[in-house]
Amino acid sequence: MATNAADEGAVLEVRNLKKYYPVRAGLLRREAGQVKAVDDISFDIPAQKTLGLVGESGCGKTTAAHTIMRGLEPTGGHVIFHDPQLGAVDLSIADKETLFKVRKNMQMVFQDPQSSLNPRMTLLDLIGEPLTIYKIAKGQELIDRVAELLKHVGLRPEYMRRFPHAFSGGQRQRIGIARALALNPRFIVADEPTSALDVSIQAQTLNLLQDLQDEFSLSYLFIAHDLSVVEHISDFVAVMYVGKIVEQADTRRLYHNPKHPYTEALLSSIPRPDPKIQKRRVPVRGELPNPADPPTGCYFHPRCPYAEAICSREEPPLQEVEPGHVAACHFSDKLTLRGVNDF
Ligand code: SF4
Repeated sequence: MATNAADEGAVLEVRNLKKYYPVRAGLLRREAGQVKAVDDISFDIPAQKTLGLVGESGCGKTTAAHTIMRGLEPTGGHVIFHDPQLGAVDLSIADKETLFKVRKNMQMVFQDPQSSLNPRMTLLDLIGEPLTIYKIAKGQELIDRVAELLKHVGLRPEYMRRFPHAFSGGQRQRIGIARALALNPRFIVADEPTSALDVSIQAQTLNLLQDLQDEFSLSYLFIAHDLSVVEHISDFVAVMYVGKIVEQADTRRLYHNPKHPYTEALLSSIPRPDPKIQKRRVPVRGELPNPADPPTGCYFHPRCPYAEAICSREEPPLQEVEPGHVAACHFSDKLTLRGVNDF
């Protein structure tokens, strides 16, 4: 499905992407089944836009991100990246040399800046490393470029000889962002970049990412475990449940006119200071199912307040409910679900 990216020029096209892991059992460790961590997902990310990919921990969104970046080998499907120099490249089959060239334009910002930054490297080494690997700058030119990047992310250039432990969590995330920006990429995967940060720092980091998007003409795949973070940064949102996308639309429609009960439950869980709103919440019941042994029919049926007999028998297809809006629910055209302002 699409986000009308064809009209706007997609940077990334994900088509029927799958990442399965074998489940082995018995003395001979024979393959007894598969975990479908990412199961046939498709989306586009248009130039200079952000797609928010949302779902509970364990739903497959981080595996999807790593499979898109080819850190993990896909089991099936295609990932087409529109590289400014190389044109359309299918990352799912690209050779090592092509991947090296393409990765200059595709970078990641990680969830935990503490563990993603080598504690033995100074900021100059950390942020300058991609420039050294790609032989883009050295000596004074490298120092000048790192100073410039530090300024872009709101850190003082004189910090560049310091080590990451001298900085707060929010500052370390800024260092991670500066490193991701070093090669002037076209596309960034931000994997829960704010979830390890204090609430007050989260907003600053989101604002920074938005400012940098305009400044550097970036496209983002922004991964989050709930809908509270992605609303203001995303142009489009895809909701994942047990490896599959269950709803996808532009942000306004998904937040105000959801068509899948799981999206309604995620919207209801967005923290609100008003105690009356707290009472009207319908938090999602139960646990995310085991992806090695998912429920029959609609994977969401054991937790769904609207489930009927068909839901445990037949898997609902992901289908268009209105232009640019898809959902996988047998009753998406009949249910009147609550939007973000209805709780
Ligand atoms: Fe709920 Fe049935 Fe829709 Fe699944 S198909 S989300 S169980 S109503």
